[in-house]
Amino acid sequence: MGSLKRNIKPGDFVICDQFIDQTKKRKDTFFNGPQVAHIEMAYPYCPEFRKIAVSQAKKLNLRIHGKGTVVVIEGPRFSTLADSLRFSKMGGDLINMTQYPEVVLALELGICYLNISLVTDYDAGIYAGSKIKPVSIDQVLNNFKKNNAKLKKLVSAVIKNTPERTGCGCKEKAERALIG
Ligand SMILES: [Zn+2]
Repeated sequence: MGSLKRNIKPGDFVICDQFIDQTKKRKDTFFNGPQVAHIEMAYPYCPEFRKIAVSQAKKLNLRIHGKGTVVVIEGPRFSTLADSLRFSKMGGDLINMTQYPEVVLALELGICYLNISLVTDYDAGIYAGSKIKPVSIDQVLNNFKKNNAKLKKLVSAVIKNTPERTGCGCKEKAERALIG
């Protein structure tokens, strides 16, 4: 996951609360008619799961940001400097190529969806002109390796601390969405 903001640093964790879809070619619904799903997307990530993830990350002393907006691009290429600046200005905190449409498809089925972002690099734009290098695949893989153990710990802590029923409303959201 690339950072679009100076204060979100490689090695930090972000529990995203918003996404901006910049993908182009992906199928993003199970319902292509006659039944369609107009799913509410103001708060795409499960509020209960997010709370659990934030509190467990704090317990593990991780460098955590309790919310953030991720821009999902089509890829497979990384951004140009201009792309990266644009995404940062449009309100993005992070950038990557996954989780859209996964989050929407999960919600259509009433499945709670959580995003735990591990920051691996500063994307191309924010340090344009400074000594910090723009993202490369080596940088991403190295930082991922370095922090992978922490990520695994956090995921397992979230799973252990998830109650059987949460009353989060994700399932009901899916039921309300169906028309036709
Ligand atoms: Zn939920």
